Amino acid sequence: MPYDAVIIGGGLAGCSTALQLARRGHAVLLAEQSTYPRHKLCGEFLSPEAQSSFRRLGVLEAVHEAGASPIDQAVLTAPSGTGTEHALPDTALGLSRYELDRLLFRRACGAGVDGRPGTRVTDVQGSLNDGFAVTVGAETVEARLVIGAYGRRGTLDRHLDRPFLDQRTPYVAFKAHYAGAAAAQVQNTIELHSAPGGYCGLSPVEGTRVNACWIGHTDALKEAGGTPEAMLDKRLRQNPALDTRLGGLTRVSDQFEAVSQVPLMPKSRFAGGICMVGDSAGMIAPLCGDGMAMALQTADLVSPLASTFLEGRHSPSSFREKYEEAWTDTFGTRMRLGRWIHTAAFRPGAARLLVRSCRVVPPLARWLIRTTRGHRAQRPGHRATAPPPAADDR
Ligand SMILES: Cc1cc2nc3c(=O)[nH]c(=O)nc-3n(C[C@H](O)[C@H](O)[C@H](O)COP(=O)(O)OP(=O)(O)OC[C@H]3O[C@@H](n4cnc5c(N)ncnc54)[C@H](O)[C@@H]3O)c2cc1C
Repeated sequence: MPYDAVIIGGGLAGCSTALQLARRGHAVLLAEQSTYPRHKLCGEFLSPEAQSSFRRLGVLEAVHEAGASPIDQAVLTAPSGTGTEHALPDTALGLSRYELDRLLFRRACGAGVDGRPGTRVTDVQGSLNDGFAVTVGAETVEARLVIGAYGRRGTLDRHLDRPFLDQRTPYVAFKAHYAGAAAAQVQNTIELHSAPGGYCGLSPVEGTRVNACWIGHTDALKEAGGTPEAMLDKRLRQNPALDTRLGGLTRVSDQFEAVSQVPLMPKSRFAGGICMVGDSAGMIAPLCGDGMAMALQTADLVSPLASTFLEGRHSPSSFREKYEEAWTDTFGTRMRLGRWIHTAAFRPGAARLLVRSCRVVPPLARWLIRTTRGHRAQRPGHRATAPPPAADDR
């Protein structure tokens, strides 16, 4: 049976798009190469904006029931350990990707999506004009639309010869869950600690655990001895505030999740006719803590446009133009600001200046927090037109 849409990748962007298209009556196949539940590298800080998407999807209550931890304070420290603390404009949440991705995938399947965990998409041929043939596991299926929701970087990008691959990025990132006496100090708070060669975020997740996630330069990893523990101990813990915090925490994850090549450069929204969402369309600097909300927002942006295209009310070119325009309008400013803050966090002098400025001029901190969430970027004409709120339908 031909599908209306094949969605590649069952992270936040893929599951949300699949769920929304299925609710609009489309036949959707959602392929995820991993099985659920599984740990995934992420800071696991869900900015307040993510909750609007959860509410629209009808999963907010389930997210709370999964144990999401409320977060209403942000602490930023310079490499010297000097810090500045600010209230978040709204309550954010901390929930592991182990719980969150499984929850969303189940919801998509519950809405009629043909969800296939443990299934990798290896090839896509065709166009928006003529339709696609997609290699899904051992099978080839036909679809009118293919959505790329496969994250920041994948082998499909290589097949599609996407230009962003020409630029190497010298970053590695790790994450693990911790527990211990210091977890109480991190409750309700996201902490971002800058250090020579990288930065580390600490935030609470379900079960009184703390997620520690850090990103650094590959040179910092090599110089420290090549292991995540060594990078944390020898480089990042040079920040006394982070050192104190980690002194009261013990790792409870069996292993570290790791990624290399974190691509923060601009990307295209379409490649080989595939419509990209989430990190596949563009990744915001991790320090902004907004990647998951953006992944959900791209799903909110693309779903009504894709549905209109599938109903024959948008031509392929009009679908492309409208999505491109809506994406740039919604995310352009925060992507640029995110790259700037990320660069500053890697430079001790700039990080010190940024923290000091936020201490002395608190409105600056509030402006940064709001602008990296896109509050200035949205214009009324381009707000996401998501489906009406759905009742929790577990
Ligand atoms: C160090 C670091 C810290 C971060 N911290 C935060 C944070 O605190 N808060 C926040 O909001 N964001 C954070 N982010 C960003 C956030 O993790 C991403 O923006 C978000 O996960 C994007 O969701 P996605 O659905 O686009 O992609 P993903 O969540 O990466 O999902 C893509 C999925 O596609 C699957 N896949 C890949 N290729 C294929 C294939 N060929 N076939 C089938 N399946 C495939 C993968 O297995 C994966 O499950 C962080 C990122 C990094 C690197």
